[in-house]
Amino acid sequence: MKSETFFVSSDSASVSVGADDLVRAITAEAARRGIEPRIVRTGSRGLYFLEPMFELETQEGRFGFQPEGTMAECVTEMFDIGVEARTCLGLMDDLPWLHKQERLTFERCGIVDPRSINDYRFHGGFLGLERALGMAPEDIVAAVTESGLRGRGGAGFPAGVKWSTVRGAPGDVKYVCCNADEGDSGTFADRMLMEGDPFLLIEGMIIAGLAVGAGKGFIYIRSEYPAAIQMMRQAIETARIAGWLGGDIRESGKAFDIEIREGAGAYVCGEETAMLESLEGKRGMVRAKPPLPALEGLFGRPTVVNNVLTLAAVPMIVARGAAFYRNYGMGHSRGTQPFQLAGCIRNGGLVEKAFGTTLRTLIEDFGGGTATGRPLKAVQVGGPLGGYIPEHLLDLPADYEALAEAGFMLGHGGLVVFDDRADMLEQARFAMEFCAIESCGKCTPCRLGAQRGVEVIDRVAAGVEPAKNLALLDDLCTLMKDGSLCALGGLTPMPVRTALYHFPGDFERAAAQGDIRWA
Ligand code: SF4
Repeated sequence: MKSETFFVSSDSASVSVGADDLVRAITAEAARRGIEPRIVRTGSRGLYFLEPMFELETQEGRFGFQPEGTMAECVTEMFDIGVEARTCLGLMDDLPWLHKQERLTFERCGIVDPRSINDYRFHGGFLGLERALGMAPEDIVAAVTESGLRGRGGAGFPAGVKWSTVRGAPGDVKYVCCNADEGDSGTFADRMLMEGDPFLLIEGMIIAGLAVGAGKGFIYIRSEYPAAIQMMRQAIETARIAGWLGGDIRESGKAFDIEIREGAGAYVCGEETAMLESLEGKRGMVRAKPPLPALEGLFGRPTVVNNVLTLAAVPMIVARGAAFYRNYGMGHSRGTQPFQLAGCIRNGGLVEKAFGTTLRTLIEDFGGGTATGRPLKAVQVGGPLGGYIPEHLLDLPADYEALAEAGFMLGHGGLVVFDDRADMLEQARFAMEFCAIESCGKCTPCRLGAQRGVEVIDRVAAGVEPAKNLALLDDLCTLMKDGSLCALGGLTPMPVRTALYHFPGDFERAAAQGDIRWA
């Protein structure tokens, strides 16, 4: 063995399957041999299907090991014969899963020590901010606009246009709010980034502040992410001590600071105006627009609201230039998207690819198909309010326009796979029930419509006048889509309608059998 440095992920998902036990196994075996190992706790590389795993540093690079059998056996074998061990995966950089990706936002995640600001700098961190400190604010906004960066939170609104509006809005006090209330099913990219590369988000927020003239930023993180909250708090403190945050950033005379706010577990607080209400200490209810948050946002001041992935893309755009980022992607979907593969999938994890890659590539080439080996029935893209895409449409390019044209949406880039055992009537009911539970209650189509939706689907399932009730369900979907104040109620019809349209057999079968599971 040529080196005694190991890398083990401290990402929540890795820890949940035994990463801490792996650290203990390495430490114990090393102690038995009189070796003092250096164990760096990184974030995750996104290879969740291989966790818990560890990496060993050698002169050729980092070799990965995935324990089979007991961790102790794997660790002992590794100490005995190093990279010749059966459990050695080879050089990490050569693994096809990583090699075939286009990692820009996640280029450091799983590689750096997320607690070390020096390691962040060593791997190219703060180059964007250093550049931004010497730029005119309008030039930063122009770079973001030219890059084609769109909000990665769901709606895909151009970030540069939003920043330009905030920059041009009157007022001395402005804010940057990072929406880290990642609540979509099958999504974990925000959490992974905050746990694995927290200084990147800090850097992106400072650049946003410099661009629009804001001196203060807030990160609204869901309370279900305690490790991310702790990591971000620690990183903010470290950045402050090192002079990257605070009243005089790197003696530039420019100021920006960040505070963390914890959400209280409401899905609707991912909606930007509900998040702002919550940040102000009120109940998370959606505000009517106008006014736009860009003009009257947090505490009535002009506010940039972007999600984690949007802000995390900014340092690279400023450091490497708008054209560099723009060269990735297709049409109006520029750059890369961190896709998250979840549900019934063999190789779950995070894959960052340029827009334009197909769903089939993501699910079959990277994901390895269903976890059960059974035929794939549907993929839900865009969270609990996204559509169910049937197998025959998997060749759709995964970008904003292509998905929208086919009646779906990209959302936060989460792909949840279902095999042929899934019942789409159950999924449609779940969408309505989810909306009923998570509705903020402000408008009637959502507050009452979703509850009625559950009842109507139950009547179909019970075989009660199915044709009449399906027509009623369609009517209700139209009402919710057209009459809801925000996307929660407005998008709930998407999973319901795509389930009905692409999988009518599940509804017909339930109706014919008078399945009374929920009656
Ligand atoms: S659609 Fe639902 S969540 Fe949105 S404002 Fe109306 S009641 Fe609230």
